[in-house]
Amino acid sequence: MEKEKIVIEVPSKVLHVEHAQCPRGHSLMDSAVPINGYPSIKVVIQYGAIRGNIHLDPIYGSFHNLFDVDIPEGVVVEMFCPACGGSLRVEHDKCDFCFSPMFALYLPNGGILEGCLKSGCHEHKLVLVDVHEQLGMVHGHDQIQLLM
Ligand SMILES: [Zn+2]
Ligand SMILES: [Zn+2]
Repeated sequence: MEKEKIVIEVPSKVLHVEHAQCPRGHSLMDSAVPINGYPSIKVVIQYGAIRGNIHLDPIYGSFHNLFDVDIPEGVVVEMFCPACGGSLRVEHDKCDFCFSPMFALYLPNGGILEGCLKSGCHEHKLVLVDVHEQLGMVHGHDQIQLLM
């Protein structure tokens, strides 16, 4: 069966990301800085000469992100893996809401979590590449938790 790319709508705050990676497979999870009781997702953020760490809220649809640096509202930033410095920006997709570039976090089982790179824009989506996984996700939250 051909693999298809599926974008699904998941209700906010029903799941949290447990295993996010950069495109080269480095874990981005930081248990030293929990947010909402779960390990946060640590990435490097850059805007012009401003560069620092940001801890992303691992709860899907929640945005209690912790910034080490001040990023002005409404600007488009770059995001990098803290381990390898690779960009997390994706070339193939734009934000549905503001048409800015998106970043991607890679999840187990082929899932991809995409988010908008414009500061203050909270557009995000979950992209899956396997039809059967997608069916699993539709049928129960347990499956969603396993996927993440
Ligand atoms: Zn990396
Ligand atoms: Zn956006």
